[in-house]
Amino acid sequence: VIVLEQVNKWYGGFQALKDVSLTVGRGERVVVAGPSGSGKSTMIRCINRLERHQSGRILVNGIEVGDDLRAIEAVRREVGMVFQHFNLFPHLTVLENLTLAPIWVKHTPKREAAALALGHLDRVRIADLAGKYPSQLSGGQQQRVAIARALCLRPRVMLFDEPTSALDPEMIQEVLDVMVELAEAGMTMVCVTHEMGFARTVADRVVFMADGQVVEVGRPDEIFTNPREERTRRFLGRIL
Ligand code: ATP
Ligand code: MG
Repeated sequence: VIVLEQVNKWYGGFQALKDVSLTVGRGERVVVAGPSGSGKSTMIRCINRLERHQSGRILVNGIEVGDDLRAIEAVRREVGMVFQHFNLFPHLTVLENLTLAPIWVKHTPKREAAALALGHLDRVRIADLAGKYPSQLSGGQQQRVAIARALCLRPRVMLFDEPTSALDPEMIQEVLDVMVELAEAGMTMVCVTHEMGFARTVADRVVFMADGQVVEVGRPDEIFTNPREERTRRFLGRIL
């Protein structure tokens, strides 16, 4: 579903991605971990062209992510994204946050968009909050709204960039639970997270990045119990 081949990305003179190659198959769950500044966000943001790479190839469901705007639109229709900071529209209710894109981008009739939205809010267990504004919600609830909002566009792939790292500890689990359910439903997922419990239970593969490179890729049991690379070992030693 997602293919990265020898992807390089510079911010000015600074190289943030160095020959990054990775394939994520349909229904696969990949967790990306690594130290701060290692290029994790840059990599997943390149997948839906929130950042542009300068060389190498990125394909999403066979569509090449490049300068062609139609291709970028097509890719963004397939890929949902959830960020560390929930990026909800503060002046819109929860329901309006969810129906905005379906109505304006996908031309879904209002009623149908609302029904779809309520279904997804129910799925993340906050259907009762549909009429509230984001500022009236806890961080965990806001993040679940953000996930429901992404799902309303019926993505085939979900990208998560540290979805729980801005949350108070007691709210982390409720968001992880929703992500686990998505995984169990067969969603293709790429998750940047330091929640290694989540990685152990959900990930098919863990990708370890450092200094803009993919240092090691393996099944969670391999990576956690027997990392091949010294840099992986050191990183895990610090966070586990
Ligand atoms: P973190 O765990 O802190 O989120 P990360 O692995 O997601 O880190 P990135 O955000 O991808 O790291 O950043 C990789 C490198 O690129 C960092 O050194 C960062 O300072 C640099 N960088 C990121 N965005 C920009 C930008 N817009 N302009 C210049 N440099 C950037
Ligand atoms: Mg990041």
